[in-house]
Amino acid sequence: MPTTRTKPATVVAVANQKGGVAKTTSVASLGAAFAEQGRRVLLVDLDAQACLTFSLGVDPDEVDRSVNEVLLGQASIADVTVTCDDGVDLVPSVIDLAGAEAQLLPRPGREFVLRTVLEEVRDDYDVILLDCSPSLGVLTLNALTASQALIIPMPCEMLSHRGVGQLLDTVADVQKILNPALEVWGILPTLFDGRSNHAREVLADVGERYDLPVLDPPIPKTVRFAEAPAVGRSILATSRTSKGAKAYRDVAAALAKRL
Ligand code: ADP
Ligand code: MG
Repeated sequence: MPTTRTKPATVVAVANQKGGVAKTTSVASLGAAFAEQGRRVLLVDLDAQACLTFSLGVDPDEVDRSVNEVLLGQASIADVTVTCDDGVDLVPSVIDLAGAEAQLLPRPGREFVLRTVLEEVRDDYDVILLDCSPSLGVLTLNALTASQALIIPMPCEMLSHRGVGQLLDTVADVQKILNPALEVWGILPTLFDGRSNHAREVLADVGERYDLPVLDPPIPKTVRFAEAPAVGRSILATSRTSKGAKAYRDVAAALAKRL
């Protein structure tokens, strides 16, 4: 149970260098689902678009200090963390996070910065989810280096396969050089339309193609997801009984055994 836990938080990166594959939606929804289970959850917005920050009801323009200052050593992670209505804590992003990326580049050990700062708070949480930007740049390398596990959201369409090979090559490099403990938990099928033969074929094929586990159940495509960010809550709060919310709860329940 969370209260008797002595183990530091499991850090999970949610990454895919393609945009629009439901990384941010998955971080917000799995975070809310873990919080419903009574776990202490920290979400980290590593994208300069600050979509996770916005979707959890925090205005990126009002954020005084963000993950940016934390990565540059100008603030502690506890200083910038805010508690959101979904029952999760958030390290917010701001629109100029690209600045942090550039400032980290010339630094020695630049891939280890996030891992080092997360060590300060790992004892305070059960799970830490990292929402990555749509790139394989230094911030995503930081996320992969800081994590015990990786989830790769992927829509069930053929075109969304492009780039996964490159992501897996990067993961292999990270495992070899930076973080041997990184484990790929699997592909999370997203935006799944069960009525489409094509989507069902992609779902059936994707695990074998990449020799990776496929998390279950797939997350159905539903308009509910478009509505949630506007009110600053995840779909688990705005549409409690929807199929999408249930799917994320089921995935979180299966993953909870591995935390
Ligand atoms: P990423 O972080 O990978 O760029 P997002 O989580 O921002 O992707 O999702 C991209 C878009 O798809 C958003 O507009 C989001 O509301 C929408 N979306 C995500 N998941 C679903 C879903 N299961 N059904 C319908 N729309 C979804
Ligand atoms: Mg995103």
